[in-house]
Amino acid sequence: MIIDCHTHLNNYHNEEQESLATSLENLQREMRKNRVTISLVLTSYKITPGRPSTRSVVEATRHLNSIYVVAGINYYTFHKDELIELREYIREGKVRGLKIYPGYQEFYPNDAKLEPLFELAQEMEIPLMVHTGDTFTPKGKIKYSHPLHCDDLAVDHPKLKIVICHLGNPWFRDCMEVVYKNANVYTDFSGLVLGNFTDRFEQYMAKQLHEMIVWGLEPDKCLYGSDWPISSMESYLDFMDEIKIPVKDKRKIMFENSVRLFKIPIDQFQLRGDSFFERLRVNGKKMVE
Ligand SMILES: [Zn+2]
Repeated sequence: MIIDCHTHLNNYHNEEQESLATSLENLQREMRKNRVTISLVLTSYKITPGRPSTRSVVEATRHLNSIYVVAGINYYTFHKDELIELREYIREGKVRGLKIYPGYQEFYPNDAKLEPLFELAQEMEIPLMVHTGDTFTPKGKIKYSHPLHCDDLAVDHPKLKIVICHLGNPWFRDCMEVVYKNANVYTDFSGLVLGNFTDRFEQYMAKQLHEMIVWGLEPDKCLYGSDWPISSMESYLDFMDEIKIPVKDKRKIMFENSVRLFKIPIDQFQLRGDSFFERLRVNGKKMVE
């Protein structure tokens, strides 16, 4: 089984606007092609014709047990009243996490304005995902997206589960320390590349990740995510093949940790195929015990 905890249904290329239905079809096609069993779709901090709202994504995916939603929050317009609708979606089981976007919007992750959001996440026992590291646009302000700021949030809210997205790229060691130090902090591997990995970059980054796992980044705290459609699913899964860690740790990263953290219900049909490891055999790559 593979769970991709970080995908989007946004259009990042404004010239060719796709409908939500088309983006959803593309996501499902990529999942089938790459044997990804479940994806979490993260909605944006802004709603535009190319960036559907949480409500639209919830409605479009309600009948699917392979897609769940992480609700993006707009810091500037955030008001506790919007939590009424969100709470319903969480109760229903469709929304399984919340996401904030420091760096794209100018605020630190522990901003007091978001306190009601942190309370909701704790009460409903769902994680808060935090964008960290580089911003896709030069208009972002990266002092806000440094992973070190997640430490303040984690220390002041020990019951809040936090996911540092993108490993703090490029501040990997800072991210590692915040994850290592705080029992309530996790990280996802998404968004390390735009499109496909080149061979050299894939080897370099796999080595970095392997070293970090040896050093102190516990596999129990790491989640597989791609950032599709920004990154290619196929290339990302090939990249994961390159990280030489024990199979039991890879299983945790590829799906077990996400099942636990996002409380994803798994049915018997989904459990049947161990797709990541089947995929390894298909690719003829050697598994590391
Ligand atoms: Zn993303």
